[in-house]
Amino acid sequence: MEIKLLSISEKPGQVTEIPANPAPDVVESASTMGTVFEILIYGSDRRNLSAAARQALREIVNLDDQLSRWKSGTDIAYINAHAAKERVRVEPELFDLLLRSRRIWSETNGAFDITVAPLVKAWGFYEKKGRLPGSEETKSALEIVGMEHVVFDEEERTIFFERSGMEIDLGGIGKGYAVDRAVEILEACEVKAALVNSGTSSMYAIGSPPGQEWWHIGIRNPKDEEKSVATLALKDGSVSTSGAPEKVFEVAGKKYSHIIDPRSGRPAEGSVSATAIVGSAAESDALATAFYVLRVAGTRAYWEKHADVKAILIPATDEGKKPAVVAIGFDRNESTKRDK
Ligand code: ADP
Ligand code: MG
Repeated sequence: MEIKLLSISEKPGQVTEIPANPAPDVVESASTMGTVFEILIYGSDRRNLSAAARQALREIVNLDDQLSRWKSGTDIAYINAHAAKERVRVEPELFDLLLRSRRIWSETNGAFDITVAPLVKAWGFYEKKGRLPGSEETKSALEIVGMEHVVFDEEERTIFFERSGMEIDLGGIGKGYAVDRAVEILEACEVKAALVNSGTSSMYAIGSPPGQEWWHIGIRNPKDEEKSVATLALKDGSVSTSGAPEKVFEVAGKKYSHIIDPRSGRPAEGSVSATAIVGSAAESDALATAFYVLRVAGTRAYWEKHADVKAILIPATDEGKKPAVVAIGFDRNESTKRDK
């Protein structure tokens, strides 16, 4: 992966110009996983490139049939229904994804936790209308949340939930993982310059557009979608952002994010948006969710141990104030620029 921070917003109301990427030769998209995946490709052989894009999108649609916790008959639905009663054997690639999710859980001190489902449910976020759970309800949900209660048998490739009521939700990593799987297909089809994105949340840049050294990627200002707070130059790497303003819930007059801090059992507070930049989209997706929970200090602590990862955070500021932008990991110096 190659990455540069081209610009970061400094002046009041400043708009960071994103240099335009040239128009792609092929654009294909598919609606799945609750979003629209899009693939942009450059190259002369449009017919083959379109076929490659469609094959990659089919892979994503098929993955939804494995990873969704909503559809019946998916592997995740099966695990959620059975793993507290018996050890469930898991398909090898899904097993690897679950192991990876556990590693990220451990490396983020539990900020990223795919067993968060009972809490997401208690807060009403699955029904897309927030509700305030009682303290007893939060307490009982917290008792059945925690990757430490999932027993992995790597020889037998099984998992087991130690507590009944546990459930897995891959919402914080699945779209990024799907982007990676699409990228593998495109690369196998000899695609040299492409961008794969899952709506606004995760993207992977293969190579760079013709005549350009980089893909130019804007990190949007959550308070003004038309503007971006920073511009990145990226090649062969991934960017994910958590904290999309359209995912905010209002509960009893207060705004909450759909990201839960699995340690407290409450929606994460203190972040407006968190962006993670790293070599894989599954990783950047999960880390963006984790960084949203961990905020500046926690993200910096993570970066101390994983210097290949970069982050751009927008901490919450008082109503009416311009957001501050914190960049971590660029040039091994942390730069902080604040709009006055
Ligand atoms: P989005 O998918 O909306 O772009 P995220 O990648 O941050 O945003 O994922 C948020 C989703 O992940 C939530 O809708 C929920 O399903 C799940 N989730 C919420 N909190 C956590 C957490 N702390 N760790 C892992 N997954 C989470
Ligand atoms: Mg995520």
